Parts: sequence; C-alpha cells; structure tokens
Amino acid sequence: MRPAGPDTIAHAAAILRGGGLVALPTETVYGLAANGLDPRAVAGIFAAKGRPADNPLILHVPDYAAVAGIVDAPPAIAGRLAEIFWPGPLTLVLRRSAKVPEIVSAGLETVAVRVPDHPVARAILRACGRPLAAPSANRSGRPSPTRAEHVLADLDGRIDLIVDGGPTAHGIESTVVDLSELDRGGPPLLLRQGAIAREALSAHLPGLVDGAAIAPERSPGLRHRHYAPRARLEIVDNGALAERARALAGEGRTVGVLAGGVDDEAPRDPEIAGVRWLAFDGGLEGYARGLFAGLRTLDALAVERILAAAPPEIGIGRALADRLRRAAAG
Ligand code: AMP
Ligand code: MG
Repeated sequence: MRPAGPDTIAHAAAILRGGGLVALPTETVYGLAANGLDPRAVAGIFAAKGRPADNPLILHVPDYAAVAGIVDAPPAIAGRLAEIFWPGPLTLVLRRSAKVPEIVSAGLETVAVRVPDHPVARAILRACGRPLAAPSANRSGRPSPTRAEHVLADLDGRIDLIVDGGPTAHGIESTVVDLSELDRGGPPLLLRQGAIAREALSAHLPGLVDGAAIAPERSPGLRHRHYAPRARLEIVDNGALAERARALAGEGRTVGVLAGGVDDEAPRDPEIAGVRWLAFDGGLEGYARGLFAGLRTLDALAVERILAAAPPEIGIGRALADRLRRAAAG
C-alpha cells in the first residue's frame, strides 16, 4: 500500500502496462484495475477477486474520445450523456468493438464504459494510456471497499499494488445504463441504481425503464449473490431503531445499528448495553458514504443482528435501499 503521489502513479502505470493488478481510488469505491485490452491481465482480476466468470467488467477511460476505440457505433445520446455526467459515476453499456477481449464482457456483445472523476484514477489512466478494467476491489461477496485498508484486508498478497487516495467520495458504485439496443428501437435500461440519481438521469434520458424487471439477462451482476453480512439485517425506520435495538438487546442479542439518511444529523446513540450504534451524518449522501465501511465494522464485531435505517427512495437513497435489500436477503 502506497500513498498516492507522482512516484506511486508512475509505478502503478508501469505495473498496469506490464499486465499487473493495481487497486486505485475512484469517486465511487476502490477499483481493482488491469489493462482492459489484455485478456491475461483481466483474467488476473477474476482470479484475485474470486469473481464469477459470467459477471462482466467496466472499462475506465480518460475521456469520451477514448470510447471510440472500444465500442461500435454509439448512439448520439451516449455523447450527450457523457458531456453532462462525465467524468462521473455513470456507466454506459454500448456495443463492444472487436478490440475488447471477450473476457471483459463475459461473452456479451456489449461493453460497459465510464470516465471516473478522481484525480488519482485519471492520472493513472493518462499515464498508462490503456483502458482499465476495474471492478470493485473486494473479494467477491464482500462489501465494496471505500478505503484503502478495506482493499488490504481483502486482497493483500493477491495483487501488485494498492494506491491509497483516502476515503472515497460517494461510497456507492456507479449507476449502470444500457444504451445498446436504442438503434434497434429498444428502450434505455437502468441496469443498476448507483451514485447518479435516477431522477437526474431520466431528465436527460426520456423513456428510461428498469432493466432488472424487463431484461434481467442484460444485467449479469444482479444474478449473483451480493454482499450479505453474517448477521441477519433488518431495515427499520430511523425513528424505530432505538426501540427495536432495545428489544433485541433485551433478548440477550448483540446488535449493530446503522443510523442515518433522512435528516442531516443521524439519531444519536441512546447507549443501550450490547448495542453498537454507528451514526452517519450528512443526510443520504453521508449514509451512502459510510454504509459499506459500517457493514465491515459490524461484521468484524460479529454482532448477531444488524438494524439499518430505511432510506427514502429518492436520489442516492434508491441505490442505498437496493444495497440494503440485497444485504438483508442473506
Ligand atoms: P463492479 O465494477 O464490481 O461494480 O461491477 C460492474 C457492474 O457492471 C456489474 O453489476 C456488472 O454486471 C455490470 N456490467 C458490466 N459490464 C456489463 C455489460 N456489458 N452489460 C451489462 N452489465 C454490465
Ligand atoms: Mg462489485
């Protein structure tokens, strides 16, 4: 693990050009990067993460111009969305060009692309001059890493370098939208809720429909068991957290609480014996930033039950609710 700086960035780029694996910060979560045009390097990502081979990767590029080399005939709306949302946490699924190895797309005819909005990720992209495949830098089945220490805990000894750029800004993954069928009359599909709010996206992308409902086969990531904590997780309104925690503690259980999301200040710790209370200030954004780290903390404490505040399903709250529902599904 090395702090981000000019030497580390040059070193990271050299490792990537040589086919190695580098974990780096993005504005969403830490990514595990490899040269996206080198099938052997990309195979290393799947091996290090233990990622199922049918779950495709996102290619990260420095700007929209770089998309031209890796996709075929993008629709005009792709360029307009890029102008509005890039650099940023919006991933576009487009038709794959022959240059992109099949392993990146898990055999699909499409490829997912985005321009990250993080100075370290962008500096490494520029320095290595190749598109970087970079899924979240966690072992498959663990929460996405929002700090370099999370990457170290999951992948130490399995990858070549971890670049430490501090905690990530959003704490939740990118929004994924599939534009690959537009020219055949298909609708734009929202494949994954993420850091760009559905409301913001719909304003520029009329006719956006929920892909999970109508085309689950287009979103392989959703097929897989997502992160689930060891403890059973319940989603509870902020106002009911203390009462529910008291009841569970009264039954002799150890409890972890994730409080936050509605008001700017999360409900304070009522200091109940046997209850570890984590409060995330800063409204929905603050909750999103802290969620995955909070789940890691509670897992490490081996609490028996987790209570998570129910986010209102607006803005980034939709992505939060999605991740919490998957964690609760077990
Ligand atoms: P991660 O980078 O770990 O957040 O995972 C990438 C997400 O993007 C997963 O949910 C993938 O299923 C999704 N994804 C990547 N490429 C494609 C693609 N070509 N078509 C549909 N979804 C994709
Ligand atoms: Mg992931």
